[in-house]
Amino acid sequence: MSDYVAQLMASVKAKNPAEPEFHQAVQEVAESVQLVYERHPEYRTERVLERIIEPERVILFRVPWVDDRGHVQINRGFRIEMNSAIGPYKGGLRFHPSVNLGILKFLAFEQVFKNALTTLPMGGGKGGSDFDPKGKSDGEVMRFCQSFMTELYRHIGPNTDVPAGDIGVGGREVGYLFGQYKRIRNEFTGVLTGKGLNWGGSLIRPEATGYGAVYFAAEMLATRDESLEGKTCIVSGSGNVAQFTTEKLLDFGAKVVTMSDSSGCIYDPKGIDREKLAFVMELKNVRRGRMNEYAEQYKGVTYTETSAEQDANPLWNHKAHCAFPSATQNEINLQDAKNLLDNGVYVVSEGANMPTVPAGVDLFVSKGILYGPGKAANAGGVAVSGLEMAQNSMRYGWTREEVDKRLQLIMKSIHQACVETADRFGVQGNYVIGANIAGFLKVADSMIDLGVV
Ligand code: NAP
Repeated sequence: MSDYVAQLMASVKAKNPAEPEFHQAVQEVAESVQLVYERHPEYRTERVLERIIEPERVILFRVPWVDDRGHVQINRGFRIEMNSAIGPYKGGLRFHPSVNLGILKFLAFEQVFKNALTTLPMGGGKGGSDFDPKGKSDGEVMRFCQSFMTELYRHIGPNTDVPAGDIGVGGREVGYLFGQYKRIRNEFTGVLTGKGLNWGGSLIRPEATGYGAVYFAAEMLATRDESLEGKTCIVSGSGNVAQFTTEKLLDFGAKVVTMSDSSGCIYDPKGIDREKLAFVMELKNVRRGRMNEYAEQYKGVTYTETSAEQDANPLWNHKAHCAFPSATQNEINLQDAKNLLDNGVYVVSEGANMPTVPAGVDLFVSKGILYGPGKAANAGGVAVSGLEMAQNSMRYGWTREEVDKRLQLIMKSIHQACVETADRFGVQGNYVIGANIAGFLKVADSMIDLGVV
């Protein structure tokens, strides 16, 4: 670690104690940005990175609500407005018991660079709550969302801050949040993305993150004159990103052999076909059940329980060519990364945010595999959110084909920006440095143009 990065990290850790995920995200970017400083010391003089790591605004609030038994419950709500140099704050809301300030700050920080890569005018933000939608009735989820929005509405707006979904926030939650915003403000505007089609949503938005991660993998493979056809793929998670990653992989003629949730993973050597994927979608989106039911439903499938404490996750220990982590942060530890490589995996396209620990990232990069970091590979979701905002502003909707075509073009352009930037800075094929520097330069140049604000 250079002196500059060491000093910066010491200050970040002192100022933001007990936020390990935030430290992890900042360190990776700081190490990449070093290469920029060597050629362009003016960015260091302007202290751009030091400014970027300080959120423009952090909002923390009480979310009281009443459960079905009539008991009062209290959760904590957050919105991190990280950076608005290139557009309104934009980034999802996460509802999960693990949510805390450090996790949301890491996500908001990553979002700044990701949004810059999309080519669209969006700043970075993130928010959420430690509320757990699992096991709650629709009525409880609605009352929680209404209470959450009763505070959040003061801080957001179509030209200020436009939240979307993330873990635990899907179409149902966005609906309740949008309904309450509309009621309080008495206006119908594009204040949230991921809306339902009948009330201002965009076609392809639900599919966009998963489809985008697969398009990104296809672009990486194309640099070696290869395609996804016939490839065996490991997918983690079984939520929004995992489902549509699997769907697009099937379109491309690949075979998906795994999926998971926070309780365990399934291995289906015959492959998850469209009928089985429809079962998963119904199980997860409608019945809100667990993945062990997949193994009960289909013959020849292995289900293994998993826990965060185990040394390695069996999910990552199967023969395959490609891996699509699509569940959560740090889900691939160093042993998992080694297992993936030992099993022949040479393409990793991250649908989830920061799913690989730093030592795992270093291993992938040092082995020269096609490794697409989350801030590039999963940018398709926010990109189509940007397209949803554009359609809301026009009061007009594009067709499925039109949105999908734009998504593909954006993923191509993100891939190209990573490759060209990596080349320019002498680290050919390093998508981590390529993505970090390309995103940084766009935001940094804008911040310098806008003065010290
Ligand atoms: P989701 O629909 O809520 O699905 C999340 C999936 O991951 C579920 O299968 C969940 O299992 C599993 N999971 C969550 N926390 C976990 C944990 N601590 N350990 C193990 N498994 C866990 O969320 P999503 O929208 O697909 O998001 C998945 C990842 O993609 C996240 O990293 C998110 O930040 C990232 N991402 C999402 C979008 C988007 O547009 N949605 C865009 C960019 C990036 P359970 O069913 O047991 O909870």
